[in-house]
Amino acid sequence: MADEKDEKKQCKNPPCTCPPQPGGKYCSASCEGAGQTIELDCDCPHPECQGNF
Ligand SMILES: [Zn+2]
Ligand SMILES: [Zn+2]
Repeated sequence: MADEKDEKKQCKNPPCTCPPQPGGKYCSASCEGAGQTIELDCDCPHPECQGNF
């Protein structure tokens, strides 16, 4: 069976709605750095991110 679909393929930074980089858990280095602190907004450079204010 090759049914490998994750429920959420999403950056591990909670406010971030971007898909993570291939082989990574975060969409960008800024999200990876933010993983240690809890922020309400996302700092990633993706314009479509809904956590980016
Ligand atoms: Zn983001
Ligand atoms: Zn992100």
